Amino acid sequence: MSIHGKTFVTKAKHMLHGGDYNPDQWLDRPDILADDLHLMKLSHSNTFSVGIFAWSTLEPKEGVYHFEWLDDIFENIHKIGGNIILATPSGARPAWLSQKYPEVLRVDENRVKQLHGGRHNHCFTSEVYRKKTQQINRLLAKRYGNHPALLMWHISNEYSGECHCEKCQEAFRDWLKSTYNNDLDALNKAWWTSFWSHTYTDWSQIESPSPIGEKGVHGLNLDWRRFVTDQTISFFENEIVPLKELTPEIPITTNFMADTFDLIPFQALDYSKFAKHLDVISWDAYPAWHNDWESTADLAMKVGFINDLYRSLKQQPFLLMESTPSKVNWHDVNKAKRPGMHLLSSMQMIAHGSDSILYFQWRKSRGSSEKFHGAVVDHDNSPNNRVFQDVSEVGGTLEKLAPVVGTNRTSEVAILFDWENHWALGDAQGFGMKSKRYPQTLQQHYRTFWERDIPVDVITKEQNFSAYRLLIVPMLYLASEETIARLKSYVAHGGTLVMTYISGIVNEHDLTYTGGWPKDLQDIFGMRPLETDTLYPSDRNYVTYQDKTYPIKDYATIIELESAQAEGFYKEDFYAKLPAVTSHSYKGGKAYYIGARLDDEFHRDFYSRLMTDLSLTSVLPVNHGPGVSVQARRDTVTDYVFVMNFTEEKQTVTIQSEVQDLVTKENVPAEFTLKPYEVKILVYSKSNK
Ligand SMILES: [Zn+2]
Repeated sequence: MSIHGKTFVTKAKHMLHGGDYNPDQWLDRPDILADDLHLMKLSHSNTFSVGIFAWSTLEPKEGVYHFEWLDDIFENIHKIGGNIILATPSGARPAWLSQKYPEVLRVDENRVKQLHGGRHNHCFTSEVYRKKTQQINRLLAKRYGNHPALLMWHISNEYSGECHCEKCQEAFRDWLKSTYNNDLDALNKAWWTSFWSHTYTDWSQIESPSPIGEKGVHGLNLDWRRFVTDQTISFFENEIVPLKELTPEIPITTNFMADTFDLIPFQALDYSKFAKHLDVISWDAYPAWHNDWESTADLAMKVGFINDLYRSLKQQPFLLMESTPSKVNWHDVNKAKRPGMHLLSSMQMIAHGSDSILYFQWRKSRGSSEKFHGAVVDHDNSPNNRVFQDVSEVGGTLEKLAPVVGTNRTSEVAILFDWENHWALGDAQGFGMKSKRYPQTLQQHYRTFWERDIPVDVITKEQNFSAYRLLIVPMLYLASEETIARLKSYVAHGGTLVMTYISGIVNEHDLTYTGGWPKDLQDIFGMRPLETDTLYPSDRNYVTYQDKTYPIKDYATIIELESAQAEGFYKEDFYAKLPAVTSHSYKGGKAYYIGARLDDEFHRDFYSRLMTDLSLTSVLPVNHGPGVSVQARRDTVTDYVFVMNFTEEKQTVTIQSEVQDLVTKENVPAEFTLKPYEVKILVYSKSNK
C-alpha cells in the first residue's frame, strides 16, 4: 500500500518497539509472565519476536506438541495491543531430534561430525531436517496464521555456517553439474585445475574446500561460497512453503548480520541474492559504542554505511530486528551505553531507514551463555533502573514518529559493494595479505558523503546504476564482462563513475583477464593500469593533486595514459611524475580512476569537486561541526530530518529558518545547540521548503 510515496513493510502504521521475547524460559514462573505484560506497557513496547528457540518447548517429544503456552502469549499480547513476530524454530533444535536423526548434525570443514549443541548446528541439505522444520512450521501457520496479533514471520535465526557432510557434497556436485551444464571440462577450465595437476576426471572427485584437502583452487572456493548461499536459501525456501500457502498476506523476513566491530557486511552469505527471497530486510546491529580505538563519529559513519547497504538491498524501509539497550556479552569489553546514546543510536537506525527498534532480548535470561546480555528487563525485574528508563524514552519517542513509518530515502550517489568480489579478493594471494580491506575501503569513500550529509545508497551489481548521478566502485577486483558492460553503458548515458586500484582484474570464475586491462574498461577510462605496487607500512610516497600533496599507503597503480587526462601524479619512487589519478570523458559521462590508496583529506577534496560539478546537495543546508550527522527520511509531501550529535561536546547547528521538532512539537530556532549525543528530528513539509 502506498500513501504519499510511503512503503509499509508490515501492516503496522507505527514504529515497532520491543524485541525477542522468550517466555518459554519462564513457563514455571507465572508471576514473571504477569509482570512482563505490565512492563511491556511501561516500556512502550508493542512488538515481540516469539518462539525463536522454542522448538523443545513446542515439541518436547517427537509428534507431541504443546502450543497452549504460546496460545496464552498470543492472547495476552493481543490484549495489550501488541504485535507478534512469530519465528520458525529451526535455528536450534531439540536433543531428541539430533539423537534420533544424526544426519541433521553438521560435518565441519575438517570432516568432523559435530555433536548436538549450540545453535545453527544443522545440515541444510538433510531431508529429515527439511521435513521436520516444514512440519512444525505448518502447525504454527495453521494455529496462528489468522491470529490478529500476528505481524510477520521471522524465519529461523541468523542463518550462517556450512555443512560438509556427504549429502552436502552430493548437493554441491549437483549444483556444479547444473552450473556447468554437465560439462566437467568447462569446470576444469573455469577453475584452472591443470595447475598442480588438479584436473578432475569424474564429478565424484570434487570435494568442498577443506584445510585437510583443497583450499588453493580459487574457482572452487568461489563456487562453494555461492553454493552455500544457494543451499541456505533453498533451506529457507523449504521452510516457508507452508507459510506462503497458509498465510500469503503475512510478510516474511530473516535476520541478517554484520561482521565484527567494524560493521562490515556479513561475509558468509551473499545477502544480495538472499534479499530477493524476503519481503522485508531485517538485521541485528551491535556496534561497540564508546570503544577505545575510534571516535563515536567514526563508528556512527560505519553504522550509516551498513544501514545504507541493507536498506538499498530492497530500496525500502527495513527493520532493526535485534540490538541492545545497553551492552552485549560477546565483545571483548562489554561497555554500557552512556546516557543519551541509546536514544541517539536508535534514532540513527530510524534515520537510515529502519521502521523498528527491537532488542535481543526483552527479558534477560537467568542462566546459560546470554545471562549477561543487555535486555529491557534486567534480573532486578524493575522498571526503575537506568536501562529500562532509556528504553521507555525510546519507546515514547517512537510513538511520536508514526508519520515517518514507510518513508524512504533518496540518493544521487551510490557506492557498489559486491559479495563475490569480497570473497575473491579475500582469497587472492597477492597484493597485501592484510591490507586489502575491501569493505573498509568502501567505508572510507562513504565517509566524505556522510560528513557532508549527502545521502548514499550502497548498492550491489545487479541494481539499476542509472538511478544515480555518481557511482563509486572501489576495488572491484572481480568484475565480470557483464558488469563491465553495465558500467560502460552507465557512463555512456551520462553517469559519473569513480573506480580505484585493484579493479577489473578477474572474471566471475576468478580467472584473470588476459591481454591487459579489459578493452571496455580502457574505453571508459582512457588509460591502462600496468602494474600494482604494494607498499610496506613504513614506505612513504605521495600524490600531488590540484596543487596539494597527499600521502599514500598500501597500493600504487602505475598507469599508462591513452586519451585520459592525468589529474594527480606520484611524487616519489621509480614512478615519480607518472599519473596516479585520471579523468576521462566517455560519450555522455565521465570516468575517474584513483590509482593509489589515498587518505581522508584527499577524498574530501576530490569528492568536493565532484559534488560541485554534479550539484550534489546535502539533505538540508545545515552548518555544523564535525561529528554531527544529518540524515533524512522523506515521502512526497514531507522530509523528516534527523540532526544527530555523535560527539562528546555540545554542538551549534544553524539551519535556514525556524522549523518544527517532530517529537516536542515545539519550534526549533534557526540556530540551536545540541548537547553531547543529542538528536533532534525536524519536520519540513514540501510546501514551506
Ligand atoms: Zn550436510
